[in-house]
Amino acid sequence: MKYNKHVSARQTPQSEPIPGKDMIQNNAGGFAFGIDKWTQLNRFLILGTEGGSYYVNEREMTRANAKSVIECIKEDGMQVVTEVVTISEAGRAPKNDPALFVLAMCAGLGDKNTRRLAFGVLPRVARIGTHLFHFAEYMEAFRGWGPMARKGMGAWYTDKELDQLAYQMTKYQSRDGWSHRDILRLAHIKPTNDAMNSLFKWATGTDVSMDVLPEIVQGFEMAKRAETEGAIIDLIHDYGLTREMIPSQFLNKPTVQLAMLQKGMPMTALIRNLGNLSKSGLLGDGKWDVTKAVVNQITNEEALHKARVHPIQILMALKIYAQGQGMRGRGTWDVSQDIVSALDKAFYLSFKNVEPTGKRHLLGLDVSGSMGGGYYNLSMGGLRPCEISAAMSMVRYRIEDKVLVRGFAHKFVDLGIGKTDRLDTVVDKVVKRNFGGTDCALPMIYAQKNNIEIDVFEVYTDSETWFGDIHPVQALDKYRQKTGIPAKLVVVAATATEFSIADPDDAGMLDVAGFDASVPNIIHQFATGSL
Ligand code: CA
Repeated sequence: MKYNKHVSARQTPQSEPIPGKDMIQNNAGGFAFGIDKWTQLNRFLILGTEGGSYYVNEREMTRANAKSVIECIKEDGMQVVTEVVTISEAGRAPKNDPALFVLAMCAGLGDKNTRRLAFGVLPRVARIGTHLFHFAEYMEAFRGWGPMARKGMGAWYTDKELDQLAYQMTKYQSRDGWSHRDILRLAHIKPTNDAMNSLFKWATGTDVSMDVLPEIVQGFEMAKRAETEGAIIDLIHDYGLTREMIPSQFLNKPTVQLAMLQKGMPMTALIRNLGNLSKSGLLGDGKWDVTKAVVNQITNEEALHKARVHPIQILMALKIYAQGQGMRGRGTWDVSQDIVSALDKAFYLSFKNVEPTGKRHLLGLDVSGSMGGGYYNLSMGGLRPCEISAAMSMVRYRIEDKVLVRGFAHKFVDLGIGKTDRLDTVVDKVVKRNFGGTDCALPMIYAQKNNIEIDVFEVYTDSETWFGDIHPVQALDKYRQKTGIPAKLVVVAATATEFSIADPDDAGMLDVAGFDASVPNIIHQFATGSL
């Protein structure tokens, strides 16, 4: 009787837990390790749960994450607030909503010090008016407008310089059913000087004389009454009006768009409007000057960092722009290859200080059904997880000398991605090879069978592995024993689930939330042993 055929700690099918290890079942029916609540908090802050995953719906996934956040708040609420501020301020997450939501939870469910700290950091996390509206909406799910909330909301307004406050209040007037008027009233905010008093009166719809209002508000009010493009253009030049302050009937006029460009469009607005600008005939082949100016702006590293542009936002813009038509089929444009190349460059520039590790890397991209196909991640702007992982892996691929990129599902494949491929090509190659079941052990098995020396396996996956007859950690163990190389494993998580293929008890394995703008740096530290 070969008992070891049925039970082995060295080789266990993924459909069963490894004997002696604490494992949980993933959504695909396979077994994986549970991650601790702080890692889960990190995943939620970076990845969000909007739209759910391929396996789990949005509500279920959000509830599971919130439960874990509450446990973190119970253990150390101040630490949760610190995590929120760190990730939000550094612009590490593609969206700020999870940070605002967790902050609202801290403001409602934390102990007194946590609550006070949560409101104290509010302006650092809610950096624009829209963020504040979202926070107000989230907050009402966890607490009311008591003294601490009123004081915290009030400080968001009264601690700002008047011009900066006026800009926020005109650019972001209302969103999702919230307006400044609502917040001013609910928080009983008292202005600290006459000019602020006038601004608040204007925001709440009280009659107030124009000449006591900040300039930007004056410009905005004049734009509302403007009847010609010429008048709007003058206002843009004189007052620096942004898109949000311009009546919609003028927004798509080429002359108006040109004026906004000349005045200096904010970076995120520019990146989002490249299609519109091409449609208007301002940008593209033969439009030398404007195209060059736009290319220069979107490849300005300092400006990208200052505007906290996340690589995923650029990837999204690149994908849409390169298609030559908008997401909802609103119009088409001639694609300028100069602009696509500039976006490609901007993607890499938006990561900060990425350096080669000098180690030998195998980047394994999970291209199974759950990472792409018909599934689009709404938290990531509607991109497929496999598209984002492929783009993220390029950051390492391009800078290392000893590095391989391969794809896997239930088979291991060469995706044919080249180091100099542009991102639209990379994404295309990954989507075209999207297939089948999932076996996350394949990168290690492949390297072992082919005698490939690897120091760091980077596996980009949702950890919904179930197909293989050996667990990924066991395959890694075999690889280490056979080659004598103490190889490390980094699991780059694609979704905010509660499991991972990495063994938390093995110091040579690391879990990171994918699509975190700081991932290349974290992997660098881990690979070189400084983490
Ligand atoms: Ca899968």
